[in-house]
Parts: sequence; structure tokens; C-alpha cells
Amino acid sequence: MNTAITAVATSPVARAKEICAAGLPDAIRRHPGPAFGCFPVYSPFELYHAAGLLPLGLMGAGGTIDIVHADARFQSFVCSIAKTTLELGLQKRLTALEGVAFHSICDVARNLASVFRRNFPGLHVEYIHLAQNGAGDAAEDYLVSEYRRALAGLEERLKRRIGDEAIRASIRTYNRPRALMRRLYEIRAREPERVTASEAFTLVRAGTFMPPEDHAALLEGSLAEFATRRNKRMDRVRVVVEGAFCEQPPVGLIDVMEAAGCYVVDDDFCAGWRWFREDVIETGDPVRALARAYLSRSRCSSTRHDPDRPRHLELVERVKSTGAQAVVFMPAKFCEPALFDYVLFRRELEKAGVPHILIEFEEKMWTFERTRGEIETFVESLLFD
Ligand code: SF4
Repeated sequence: MNTAITAVATSPVARAKEICAAGLPDAIRRHPGPAFGCFPVYSPFELYHAAGLLPLGLMGAGGTIDIVHADARFQSFVCSIAKTTLELGLQKRLTALEGVAFHSICDVARNLASVFRRNFPGLHVEYIHLAQNGAGDAAEDYLVSEYRRALAGLEERLKRRIGDEAIRASIRTYNRPRALMRRLYEIRAREPERVTASEAFTLVRAGTFMPPEDHAALLEGSLAEFATRRNKRMDRVRVVVEGAFCEQPPVGLIDVMEAAGCYVVDDDFCAGWRWFREDVIETGDPVRALARAYLSRSRCSSTRHDPDRPRHLELVERVKSTGAQAVVFMPAKFCEPALFDYVLFRRELEKAGVPHILIEFEEKMWTFERTRGEIETFVESLLFD
């Protein structure tokens, strides 16, 4: 099926849907300059952007690709995103990328970086060891040195210097769509009848396939459209979705969740693209500003330990601050960081009296009837208790 974008869609949300459906290969094709693939969860996009590369989300292929070669490179119990990301490479859909970056989020991502190095010697493959424990000043110094090491590797590859002023400019550029995404999430938390979960998801996901300036324009157009909407609020359960920070669920699953009676008031979809809770500082040493933002202005995530903000307590806090009535755990199948944390989260939610349900997914999932039934039963148990 040819999913390439052929015409300008009429509304920002419709355009975002087209961009997401066309996926990464089409994003690479549309961009006239060199691009760089960023595997989830968080990637320091500004460093690649400052190098003149367009950062794009290297986040699997959803249901758009058949696995022909990748299965032979992995054990069977591995998440889908690893398989479809590699399959994109093996089917030569990533050859136009200058390079790709992986990060120390789990064993799968670490091994995938090595598999990429071995299979695609022409690609610049970066593996960034993010600070796992953010406590103390040493973590910041460490992360600065790690980012500087990655920069030096890029400079060597591109045969040009990447100056601090260029990085500061990229920080400014990315702060704009990030602020707009925060605004989008604020509106949805307050008035979920105005923005559906799949619209919010699609608008954020589209940003992983386009330049940040275009993403900002897309978000501005959408926010203007949402401001004029007058949808009636329905009798639904307000939920926070947790666990889908890396591999992304199919849009059909998100639609089913809402159709089954949920308003999603917060989630961790595409978490890395919305990683910072506040803007990154635009002055001073930009690499240190990025490191500091990672350590002290970022979202909680199962891929990162923050001793000052335990993520299970932060989840309960998010439930309270958004007025949610329940939590939907939505981990990708075989995602160890999410599934290990489920035990922690469940214990804390039960202590706080917050109902929850576990819905596992795979990016290639295409029937949702069973899931719909499970969520409907969960919702009815809350509405008619
Ligand atoms: S989905 Fe989970 S296990 Fe798979 S690469 Fe992402 S974090 Fe790792």
C-alpha cells in the first residue's frame, strides 16, 4: 500500500493523521536535507538539529511493514518496536539517514544499537548512556561529558564543528513545539471533550516525522481549532494511561479506549518528544542546560530512576492533579521496564484506592474487540458501583 502524502489535508488534525500513517520512510523522503533517527524514549534532539540534521522518531513501523528478515535476528519474546525498527533497516528504508541514536533505556535498546552497527556499517550509530540515577552533581557532569562525546562523534562524521550558538538556537526552536504540546495536554486534562485521546496522540506523533517549526505550526492550528469546539461532556471515566512511553500503541486501541467509556486526561505516549516539564534554559552552556533539564525538568519514566521523585508516587500525584478516577496500564508486550514497574505502580495505586486495569498491546495489533469488552466492563464497574 502506498501511504505517501500526496495532497495537503484540510485540517491540522487530518494532516497529522496522514503524516503518521505515511510513517518514517515518507518523512525521510519528504525532507530535502540529511536526517537522523532517534530511538525512544528521550533523545537529545537539539544536538543533532544543531549539526544540520533533522531528528526523526525511529519508533518502529506500526502495522505498515511485514516482518520478513528481523525475526531471524531476535529471540521471539522481544517487543515489536525492536523488530519493526530493524526490519525498516533491513528493507533498506533507512538508507537515507545520516545516522541513528539509541539510549540506555533497556537491554533491548542496547542490543539493537549493536545489531544496527553490525548490519549497517554506513550509518553513524550512536549509543548514549543516559544517567540512570540523577542524584548528586556528578550525574550532571557525567551527562555533559556523554553529550559532548556524542557531539565529537558527529563532528568527526560530518567533518564540521557544531558550536554552542547553534545548539542554543536548536534549544529555542524545540522549546516552541514542546510548550505547545504542554498546552495541548493542559486543555485535554481540563476539557477532555474538546480533544480526543487519538487526536492528541496523533498531533504529538506527527512531530516525530517533521521539522520542529512545522510541528509548532501544526500544533498552533490545532489549538485554534480546538478552541472553537463545543462538544458536550459525556458520562465517562477520566483515566491516566501509563506504560506506553516507548513502543506506541495502534491508534485503533486508543480510539477503542475512548469508545468504551474513558476520557484520557493524561498519558505517556511519545514521552520522549514531550520530555521536559518546563522549557530548557536558552542561555549559558547549552549542553549543560540539556543535561540539567534531563535530570531535573523531565517527566518521570520507567526508564529512569529519580530518587527525589519516585515514579510510583508521581503517578498517584498525576492522578490527583488531573482529577482522574482510574489508571489504564498500557505496556507494550515484552516491555521489561514497563512490566517491572507495574508491580510498583499497582501497589501504590491500591494503597491510594485508585482503580486500575492492565491492557497489553503490540504495535501490529489490529483487532480490539476483546480489549473493548474488558475496558467496558471496567468502566461500568466504576460508573455503576
Ligand atoms: S518497548 Fe520496552 S523493552 Fe522494548 S525497546 Fe522500548 S523500553 Fe525497551
